[in-house]
Amino acid sequence: MDAARQKDAGYRKGGKLSRYTGSVCRLCRRENLKLFLKGDRCYSDKCAFDRRGYPPGQHGQRRGRKSSDYGIQLREKQKVKRMYGLSEKQFYLFFERAEHQKGITGTNLLVLLERRLDNVVYRLGFVNSRSQGRQLVKHNHFLVNGKKVNIPSYMLKIGDVVEAREKSRKMQVIDDSLGAVVRRGVPQWLDLEKEKFKGIVKSFPVREDLTMPIQEQLIVELYSK
Ligand code: SF4
Repeated sequence: MDAARQKDAGYRKGGKLSRYTGSVCRLCRRENLKLFLKGDRCYSDKCAFDRRGYPPGQHGQRRGRKSSDYGIQLREKQKVKRMYGLSEKQFYLFFERAEHQKGITGTNLLVLLERRLDNVVYRLGFVNSRSQGRQLVKHNHFLVNGKKVNIPSYMLKIGDVVEAREKSRKMQVIDDSLGAVVRRGVPQWLDLEKEKFKGIVKSFPVREDLTMPIQEQLIVELYSK
């Protein structure tokens, strides 16, 4: 493991990888960005970031703190990792895969993250957050090309068809989410047939499609140390 990853070892307890289980709103405040981790609440006036847009904790409101280059790179990585709800190990595996692909590693990384099944069901509007997407995928509520797939990290390809299973179409959460999809919009690289509870991967996203404020080059720099 390189130095950058060792320094980030706060996420490991007792030598094992641990998943963050605290308040997700705290993560938005820590990263100084709305990460949209709580579905409908993120669009309401209950959003904790809109109410208290400063970092959590005793010193959260202290001004003028300067970060080192390492600190800035680390924050960027944490932000993206949290956005997609991944552990450090999962995230690093994506990075390694991106590094071995042709093209720009940072862009490759973001495209790979977008191709995850849990992300695509979120982007299509079947669910209100990626964590909800992960849960519903794990519980067998979606088909890919007519077959049950319950792996949230499943990599979708161009032309793949994702649909809610017949019995799952009556679920309130899916119905409510599809009702609210207009608010979020479906990215142009996906096509949603709302009445059929079905979506198609038309293409892979290009960098311009990914409008979240991410400086992926900082993540590449962090892991290149
Ligand atoms: Fe973040 Fe959503 Fe919580 Fe707002 S409501 S702080 S966007 S998770």
